[in-house]
Amino acid sequence: MTDGEARGQCPLCGTTKCLEVREASDPRFGLPGRFKVLWCPKCDIGSTHPRLTWTELQRYYPDAYDPYRGHTWLSEISRVHRFLIAAEDRFGAAATDRVRPGTLLDVGCGNGAYMAEMAQRGFTVTGVEISPLASKVVMKRGFPVVSGDFLTATLPREAFDVVTMNHYLEHCLDPRANLKKAHELLKEGSHLIVGVPNFSSWPSRHFGSHWSDLELPRHTFHFGQAGLVRLLEACEFRIQNIRHVATADAGSIATSLLVKSGKRTDTFVQRLYPFLHVVFYPLGIPLSLLRESAWIRVLSEKTKA
Ligand SMILES: [Zn+2]
Repeated sequence: MTDGEARGQCPLCGTTKCLEVREASDPRFGLPGRFKVLWCPKCDIGSTHPRLTWTELQRYYPDAYDPYRGHTWLSEISRVHRFLIAAEDRFGAAATDRVRPGTLLDVGCGNGAYMAEMAQRGFTVTGVEISPLASKVVMKRGFPVVSGDFLTATLPREAFDVVTMNHYLEHCLDPRANLKKAHELLKEGSHLIVGVPNFSSWPSRHFGSHWSDLELPRHTFHFGQAGLVRLLEACEFRIQNIRHVATADAGSIATSLLVKSGKRTDTFVQRLYPFLHVVFYPLGIPLSLLRESAWIRVLSEKTKA
């Protein structure tokens, strides 16, 4: 291991002078290993250490991993919560999804739930998914999916009106390369939507190493709002809108309390999440208004490379 790998290199400025800011184990499945977040204060971006290879990370994505399964808490989610999400997406103070329907590529599409939603809104959807299990679920839903790594996937250049990366960038091994590829696939002036946990949010600062959205070691990179903006701008995207996702805060806070009490979050997330989201939804409103939500979604426009 080189000194750079040991200290962690910032994906943006390349410095190896990152600070150790958090340390935790896998909160979801309790799989072995201790991991640290090394943070570049200048860029507002962090990375998980030790940095695992994709092969090493496989064991942390068992078949029980929610976003890969066809039948999850998302499909059981209550009508009330669906309504809240839809209302927030369309009419929220800073709705990022008010993009005209066209061709949409969902990178890291998981079980295809988001694709289904966007298809209903009139988009022609395609997915990319590295998990063969999740890819099969998407095919069963009847949507086209490229099964494999986005960076090596064969896709038409300058062909998409929207590329979406919902909770993908924090899982990948090279955020810059992934954004560069998205840039190549988008038409001139078309849109990229990136959703990530917000490392600079109140839930993150309050719960520290117990913040459930750290998701070590599955989350390989960590972004503060300013860091994500800086990274997108460095990859030739112009920021149009940043939304703080109020509907995510209740779940983030409840799950973090569970992590703090030393319990695994996998079964809890599946059983109680829909209920908690509805009951504690109001908690998310002040956080969202204060721009302190646990999740952010950024709408940006492709500019000339
Ligand atoms: Zn940096």
